[in-house]
Amino acid sequence: MSKKLTSRAEDYSKWYNELVVKADMAENSAVRGCMVIKPYGYAIWEKMQAELDRMFKETGHQNAYFPLFVPKSLFEAEEKNAEGFAKECAVVTHYRLQNDPDNPGKLRVDPEAKLEEELVVRPTSEAIIWNTYKGWIQSYRDLPLLINQWANVVRWEMRTRLFLRTAEFLWQEGHTAHETKAEALLEAQTMNNVYATFAENFMAIPVIQGVKSESERFAGADETYCIEALMQDGKALQAGTSHFLGQNFAKAFDVKFTNKEGKQDYVWATSWGVSTRLMGALIMTHSDDLGLVLPPNLAPNQVVIVPIYKTDEQLEEITTVVNGIMKDLRVRDITVKFDNRTTHRPGAKFAQHELQGVPLRIAIGPKDLANGTVELARRDTLTKEVVALDTLTDKVEGLMTEIQDALFDKALDYRNNHITEVDTFDEFKAVIEGKGGFVSAHWDGTIETEDKIKELTKATIRCIPLDAKEENGTCVFSGSPSNRRVLFAKAY
Ligand code: AMP
Repeated sequence: MSKKLTSRAEDYSKWYNELVVKADMAENSAVRGCMVIKPYGYAIWEKMQAELDRMFKETGHQNAYFPLFVPKSLFEAEEKNAEGFAKECAVVTHYRLQNDPDNPGKLRVDPEAKLEEELVVRPTSEAIIWNTYKGWIQSYRDLPLLINQWANVVRWEMRTRLFLRTAEFLWQEGHTAHETKAEALLEAQTMNNVYATFAENFMAIPVIQGVKSESERFAGADETYCIEALMQDGKALQAGTSHFLGQNFAKAFDVKFTNKEGKQDYVWATSWGVSTRLMGALIMTHSDDLGLVLPPNLAPNQVVIVPIYKTDEQLEEITTVVNGIMKDLRVRDITVKFDNRTTHRPGAKFAQHELQGVPLRIAIGPKDLANGTVELARRDTLTKEVVALDTLTDKVEGLMTEIQDALFDKALDYRNNHITEVDTFDEFKAVIEGKGGFVSAHWDGTIETEDKIKELTKATIRCIPLDAKEENGTCVFSGSPSNRRVLFAKAY
């Protein structure tokens, strides 16, 4: 095992990058801004997908798949959306390569094979999907249309970070169509709520639900709901978004339906998405200087068992006991791996499982065999205890919930201790530069003030919390009246 990770205190961003690579989750690729997700990282993503997929289906959605390419004319149709994403679009202009006559052994684009219409590689799929929905929706009987797609998208990001911001990323995007404004608004809120529940109950990440200010809103949306999380370095991370799209896409793609009164009306829309950025959120919320810390719900292996032995005979005896333990744990749906590799010493195995965040480690040696015990070690607290074999299954099962809850509580404490109310701009700057975290402050509601604050402090409005209380105050920057506080932070 290579040397220790850089500590968080020393260099948080270096710590993060080293951790992702050393824990074998992902690595940079030969393509600028694009990552390779390695099996261990992908296994965690698959767990997220499975749970989200279950939750989407439980709320009435079905999966479908739409093309990767969007003809430019369709992409342009909803002007705000097109304008918002234009700068990040990869565009296909040709469909063939040929031998380069001037450079033997090299290929070049065949100038004869220029596409009549350029194809945009989807940065998001509203355009292609709403163009399709036009053929699917005629009457109120066709509504609501509740569809999700699991896909990759491309946004030509200039500054990329593994998982947090990549040029190609994996995500799911829900695209729904409704009869009424109220129903579409409710859908956008419901899905934001699904994201919040998923983040908190499954990922053990506390989130704040809110709406975005106009300048942070999704291009083409009338309202963007979001969940915002706080990372251990005091920076915020947008962990998911859910958009109320009004009738913007229905109008752009002429999607009308006959309502119950027999009249034609435009359809109301939502879209919502979470991406592989959630992997970054997971890592930066729970992990420590020794490596990844995984909540049991997301751990590819919840328990790992390491045998400590000198002779083959001892290993054989240990294996018999371990087989029994594994059988009992699997009956309770606990995933367990017996790390009986003969190529690695126990110390190296311990270090690897620590680095990869396995929630519980069981070590079992000759002394344990004699005593009918094992050594049980928790990754989150780094505590160890000796446990009798006959109580082990219950103990491990109980710890799965206990660890999951402890991680959430710890993250919640940190988050709550990093929401600071301020009433002057001096305090604002001091908190943003010092302690970090969310600053709760009055804002006059103008883009000018928001821009100025961003320019001076790099802090942006993360959201207007859904549970923000009415409170009369004055804008921390302009002194103009304000009736509620919003949350600012530096963000990923
Ligand atoms: P949006 O379509 O912009 O609302 O984004 C949907 C989700 O994808 C949000 O949760 C974003 O935080 C996330 N996201 C946006 N851009 C990227 C990126 N370059 N890499 C990874 N995730 C992203």
